Amino acid sequence: MLHSALPGLADRVREAREYALSRGLLKYGAQGQVVHLPFTLTPWQAPERFVQQVHSLAGSFNRLYARVSHDHDFLRQTLEPAARTDEFVSRMLACLPEDPPGRPELFLTRNDFMPLQTPEGPSPRQVEINMIAASLGPASQKVNDLQRFLYREEDLGKRILPTRPGDEQVRVLVQAWKLFGDPQARILFVLPPGEKGVFDQLTLASALVLEHGVPMLRCTMEELGREGGIRGGDLWFRGRRVAMGYFRGGYAPAHYEGEASWNARRLLEASTAISVPSIPAQLANMKMVQGRLTSAEVLRRYLPDSEAEAVAATFVAMASPSEEVTWNGQRAPARELALAFPEDWVLKPQREGGGNNLYGQDMVHRLEAMRPAEDPAFILMEYIRPAAFHSVRLVENEPVEGLCLTEFGTFGAFLMEPGGLERPLVDEDLGYLLRTKDHQSREGLVIGGYAALDVLALEESTRCPGPGEGNPSAR
Ligand code: ADP
Ligand code: MG
Repeated sequence: MLHSALPGLADRVREAREYALSRGLLKYGAQGQVVHLPFTLTPWQAPERFVQQVHSLAGSFNRLYARVSHDHDFLRQTLEPAARTDEFVSRMLACLPEDPPGRPELFLTRNDFMPLQTPEGPSPRQVEINMIAASLGPASQKVNDLQRFLYREEDLGKRILPTRPGDEQVRVLVQAWKLFGDPQARILFVLPPGEKGVFDQLTLASALVLEHGVPMLRCTMEELGREGGIRGGDLWFRGRRVAMGYFRGGYAPAHYEGEASWNARRLLEASTAISVPSIPAQLANMKMVQGRLTSAEVLRRYLPDSEAEAVAATFVAMASPSEEVTWNGQRAPARELALAFPEDWVLKPQREGGGNNLYGQDMVHRLEAMRPAEDPAFILMEYIRPAAFHSVRLVENEPVEGLCLTEFGTFGAFLMEPGGLERPLVDEDLGYLLRTKDHQSREGLVIGGYAALDVLALEESTRCPGPGEGNPSAR
């Protein structure tokens, strides 16, 4: 059936592969060789309503997380119980500044949703927001170009929703850099040890340098922590002022090789340089905070009622194991529900970067072994079941076809001057990323090899009037 849906597969594979190599849609393979990133050859088809719903929420999510990151008391209250048993949360919390310096703030995010199947069609449910090292903007743009090129002769090509999150991220990075006001000051790309995602980053970094004349340097957290210093409130590194530290690592304990890495975080936090993300923003991103925001009362502290309602409609049940939660008309401690229905829950520690979640029987064993003191350092989340669909992916040069699930991420940006939380300079949706994986796979990593970059095509019956007209991501 699929071959008939995708005629000329061999030609398409060749063209797609050559296109991917020519445009740098690449990653390092297991042996250090360079290979193309996994991507699909067929777009995911969705009604325009789905895209518009996610797009209409972008501003609310931007403002929600910016406001939460400014509420240090709430962050402390929410995270201190987890910090008692989770060393990483404890160290991050210890970097929360008592008296933050006045400086512009930039949030570059990616908010990930799964399209839950409902009688009205797919409806977005939030998996999580990424406020640190939100990656794959340039790669998503490249795969979007690739598929529009591949289907240039067909109606399908015209239905693909264009997106340019890489270009948009560059535009916002430049705008934030200009606020610093020193054309000699650098943007530092702060990398984790052994960084693998270099191709995506270099697309951003080279555009900053070549198209915008922004001085840019890549360094590790250890280097910044050892060689950086504060003079007159500014951060200096290798002979120049730092306008911005843009973290591509720092979300996992293993990224902190030594004390110098923590010093890098503290230096950025205490100086005039913009930190993307700041420590408060990274704390706001923690899964315990996401869990607390599912309480209507907590959410309404940060958003007006109508916005809170629309945002909450994307939430699924989430709570620490011992906390009571309402799910499917029942109210009980999350732990009891997860033990009774292990296929309907995911257990998450406060970690980022994939591969940390526990499902099914692994989750049951971990819950049974959990000491009461550890409870606040974990969150149970309702398992989201999106509709499966047929897809053809190209993985290490081979077409793989079968039933898949997809995740829709929307890139966001929020830029504010000191004290300008309620008057942001930028509060935008920068475009989207689709990651499609085998329907039995539970992880969503592209560079890690589980998922393939994908593209969204508007379903025929829901197609918008013309290019750019009412088409949210086509800006
Ligand atoms: P991380 O911060 O480590 O990336 P996530 O919470 O994003 O962790 O989870 C990683 C992946 O696990 C997601 O991309 C998604 O594929 C899957 N996942 C996470 N939460 C759920 C959920 N509630 N339902 C179904 N799948 C989930
Ligand atoms: Mg994450």
